[in-house]
Amino acid sequence: MGQGPHWIGLTRAAAERGVPGVLSVPLAIGKPEERRMFEQLGIPTPSHACMVDITAQVQQIVARSGIKEGICHVFVPHTTAGLTINENADPTVQSDILRELDKIVPWRDGYDHAEGNAAAHIKASMMGASHAVLVVGGRLRLGTWQGIYLTEFDGPRSRQVWVKVVAG
Ligand code: ZN
Repeated sequence: MGQGPHWIGLTRAAAERGVPGVLSVPLAIGKPEERRMFEQLGIPTPSHACMVDITAQVQQIVARSGIKEGICHVFVPHTTAGLTINENADPTVQSDILRELDKIVPWRDGYDHAEGNAAAHIKASMMGASHAVLVVGGRLRLGTWQGIYLTEFDGPRSRQVWVKVVAG
């Protein structure tokens, strides 16, 4: 992977001015001899509950990794946002998912969690925090109609998505 941050979808100057967009930063953690790199996407979510298609940004990380065959791990380090893979052709699928989740888990329902966002925590767990997608020929091997979505349930916020591509 390259060094330094990579701004995807906007210029570095725009990113530094705080223009909404996506920032991808390669990160190194752990002891120097054990360091493994992964990348962090910064994803602004525009509303209280929404699904943000991050497929293109994840694909750019796959391409930059140079790995042709392997696995791409995508992880959300949040408790009120999740990840899901679903249809990216008809946007009404996303609005249907969000509306039905609201019916299953209403915002107010006598929850014990004092912060007031218990519904967001529950829906985040229903989505899950990670996915693994095959990498074939240097590209994410998704179904024809599939996209990778960050699912926001307590926005708008600036969210992170961690991405690690492993050869194999
Ligand atoms: Zn909470």
